[in-house]
Amino acid sequence: MKLWYTEKHSKDARFSIKVERQWVSQQSEFQKIDVMESQEFGRFLTLDGLMMLTEKDEFIYHDMIVHVAMATHPQVKRVLVIGGGDGGTVRELARYDCVERIDLVEIDSMVVQVCREFFPQTTCKLEDSRVHIHFEDGLRFVRSKEDEYDLIIVDSTDPFGPGEGLFTREFYGNCYKALKLEGIMVNQHESPYYEKYAESMRRAHSRIVDCFPVCRVYQAHIPTYPSGHWLFGLASKKYDPVLDFDQAAQERWEALGLHTRYYNTELHKGCFALPTYVKELLAERE
Ligand code: SAM
Repeated sequence: MKLWYTEKHSKDARFSIKVERQWVSQQSEFQKIDVMESQEFGRFLTLDGLMMLTEKDEFIYHDMIVHVAMATHPQVKRVLVIGGGDGGTVRELARYDCVERIDLVEIDSMVVQVCREFFPQTTCKLEDSRVHIHFEDGLRFVRSKEDEYDLIIVDSTDPFGPGEGLFTREFYGNCYKALKLEGIMVNQHESPYYEKYAESMRRAHSRIVDCFPVCRVYQAHIPTYPSGHWLFGLASKKYDPVLDFDQAAQERWEALGLHTRYYNTELHKGCFALPTYVKELLAERE
């Protein structure tokens, strides 16, 4: 019998992957967690039927959610990751010696438990002594923080279900407060292509623009996310990831000698160049 995973990307468009085996299908307090195995993408994790990561293309998302900000800010010591229970974002952050502490705030302990068992590729740095895992709602966690972090990464699910609060003005305002004077916030910014995702992107953008003086959007190609065209937001109190990414900043990052399969300093400059229709969608809310 042939088994296929199918995700509805719009009312009339679907994306399917042939499944060799289903490893996990369970309901947590917050969401339905599934792990499947495929020839094309290796193992993959879905939450409430939406793709979170695959073994084959997770490097693109995790490179881009981490390294753009790390190459922009010259001295990141304290990082807050909200969501990200699969560990991929923490794995990339842990490659930097300058990082002294990483707080990972994941609402659903079952995601971490399942990923520890089935995705050693992404969870491999969760035991790093700099990593502190908190199982609670990121919206609540960040409320009480002030002037604590150099970098906040919002590695959340889409703005439906438990992730909804992580796309609100209250949340972005609290992230601003939790950041130090030179702090940066990066968030996964949805896709510009299908209407439902584009509307989430526009809404998030207008709320972030209200809270931060520097707001830039950049893009990556992630084959298993809706339309494959995915955006990230970089909001900052001081550093501009394009204007401040000068020769010295590029050399500083290159001198670290990190090998990354997607990110590089050329791409850093290029990823902020957006297609006209995306610029227009964002401009409507600026
Ligand atoms: N790469 C992914 C994507 O964009 O599809 C995100 C992956 S990561 C698994 C997302 C995590 O955010 C999930 O494990 C989910 O439980 C967590 N999450 C959702 N809402 C949250 C909240 N309010 N506070 C903390 N974590 C949350």
